Parts: sequence; C-alpha cells; structure tokens
Amino acid sequence: MFLDLIRKKRAYRNKGPVLICPSCRTAISQIDMKDVQRDTDFYHLRFNGVDSGDISIATTRPEMLGSCVAVFVNPDDARYREYVGKTVSVPLYDLKVKVLADPYVDPEKGTGAEMVCTFGDQNDVDLWRKYSLETRIIIDNDGRMAGDSIIAKGIMSTDARKAVVEQLRSHDYIIKVEKKRQSVNVHERCDTPVEIGILDQWYVRYLDLRERMDEAGRGIKWYPEFMKVRYDNWVHGLKVDWCISRQRVFG
Ligand SMILES: [Zn+2]
Repeated sequence: MFLDLIRKKRAYRNKGPVLICPSCRTAISQIDMKDVQRDTDFYHLRFNGVDSGDISIATTRPEMLGSCVAVFVNPDDARYREYVGKTVSVPLYDLKVKVLADPYVDPEKGTGAEMVCTFGDQNDVDLWRKYSLETRIIIDNDGRMAGDSIIAKGIMSTDARKAVVEQLRSHDYIIKVEKKRQSVNVHERCDTPVEIGILDQWYVRYLDLRERMDEAGRGIKWYPEFMKVRYDNWVHGLKVDWCISRQRVFG
C-alpha cells in the first residue's frame, strides 16, 4: 500500500513545519487534534520602534517572543499605514523585525498588529512560507525552551510563560492584559496542546483531492446525518498534507 503510494507519487518525505505532541514526543497530523475551549490572558505588548514610532501587538503566547520573525498588520488599516516596511524591536530579545502587511490580518483582533513566530500556529507557517521569513526555533520537540531562547531555557514552554511575563512586567513592556476565550488545538490522545516544530517526515499528498472527497461524501448515505456535516468540516478544514510518520516508542 505504502509502496503503491510512492509509485503514484502520493507519498513523499519532507523536512518542514509539522504538528508535534510534546508529551507523546511524536509528529501528529491534523486528524489527531481536537479543539478545547479555555480562558487565557491576551497580552498587549510594546515593541519599540527603530525607525518609526512604537507599536503594540497582542499575543496569548508571550513565551514565543524569541521566535518572532515579523510583525503583521492589515494593508487597509489606516492606523498602521506609516509603519509598513519599518523596523521594530522585539521586547527582551532586542531582535529587529520588519512590519509587513497582509490581508489575512484581522484589524479587529487585539491591537490589529500581530507577531509572527516560528511557529505559534498554522497561520504563522502560512505567512512564513508566503514571505520567506527567517526561522528562529526556541521550543524543542519535547516542548522545552531551547535554541535561541534566552529566558527559562530548559523549562517546558507552558511553564516558561510566567518567567517571560515577569520580565516583561519588570521592563514595563506590558500595556494591558485582557481576558480572552480561546480555542486551543490539543492532541486527542493526551490533551496536550500541540506545538509546531521542524522535522523530517513522510506525507501523503491529498489536498488536491478535496473535491473528490466532497463528491464521495455526497455519495454516502450518512447515519446519523450530522456525521456528514462533521465530514464536510473536516474536508474543508484540511490545510496541510497528511503526515503519516510517527515517532512512537513502545515498552
Ligand atoms: Zn500526545
């Protein structure tokens, strides 16, 4: 079956951003994730301007600051028009990053300016690809602060947030903290929030088959009927090819 997929050029190996469960220490696919709703803090942070004014960005993951590679705003957002193309400095890390504009950014969300990190979520991956941004990894595949991280190194990223927030607070980078209801992707086997890392994995190409999947779904009589909706949502929500390799250790 696998060799057949290779022959049909459906299976391929690629080193790139992949979903990782830090607890199970394996790559997983979109199919292995579920959504969990939780309350979280939305931090509004001041990025000092280098050749422009300061800009404030909102994030739920301040521990990712060290992997920030750009700040994005919406091109139609008049508040930030003069910032596009300018350089700002990432708090605590003194990294210089560009302010870029992309229609994907929702001006209503947070401050309307957001940081792109390698990698906080799938949107980060999409923008990183589209604009050929740098890669700065600060969370290793076990979920620990590593690499270019200078704060809380060796600590689990989930616990590192507190240390990073303390430093941000003592250096006066926090403008305000909002409470926010957020949906988080977790691994369905263990409920651990999923991270994105870079690994060499095997994939099955199937995004080009979405129309055929739609068709196949229409040809099935569904019991119970709501499973059809679930199937359609799944097909339309597919964003990356199917990662089929796992790093599971038994025993
Ligand atoms: Zn897991």
